[in-house]
Amino acid sequence: METVGTATVWTRETALGEKQDLWRAMKRGFRGRCPRCGEGKLFRAFLKTANNCSVCGIDFTPHRADDLPAYLVIVIVGHIMVPLALSVETHFSPPVWLQLATYLPLTLILSLLLLQPVKGAVVGLQWAMRMHGFDENPPDGIPPV
Ligand SMILES: [Zn+2]
Repeated sequence: METVGTATVWTRETALGEKQDLWRAMKRGFRGRCPRCGEGKLFRAFLKTANNCSVCGIDFTPHRADDLPAYLVIVIVGHIMVPLALSVETHFSPPVWLQLATYLPLTLILSLLLLQPVKGAVVGLQWAMRMHGFDENPPDGIPPV
C-alpha cells in the first residue's frame, strides 16, 4: 500500500505478502512439517491436519486438499506398479497367484505410505500459492472456497 498525497493506492507489489517459496513449502509439507517454518507438525493424525502450527502458529484449517492427494497417489503408484508388473510378466512370467500375492499388498503399502506425504505437499502448495483461505489479502466479496 502506497500513500500518494492523502490517498492510499493499492499496487500489485503491496498486495503481495512475504514471498513464499513453492518447492520449499511442498518439501516441508511432504515431510509432514509446517510449510512456513518447517519445524511444527502439519498432521495430528494420519490424514488430519493440525489446526495450527505449534511453532509459528500458522492456521492450517483453510487448506482444501480434498481428493487431490488420493488422485496423485493413484497416478504415482500406478506409474510404479504397472511398468513393474509388465516387466516381471515379460521377463519371468510367474504364476498369477504369485503376482496377485505380490502386487496387491505392494500397491496397498505404497499407497498408504505416500498418502500423508502427498497430502502434506498439497497443503504446502496451497499455502505457498495463497490458495483458498491462505490468502491474507482476499479480494473483497469473494469468500475463500
Ligand atoms: Zn510453522
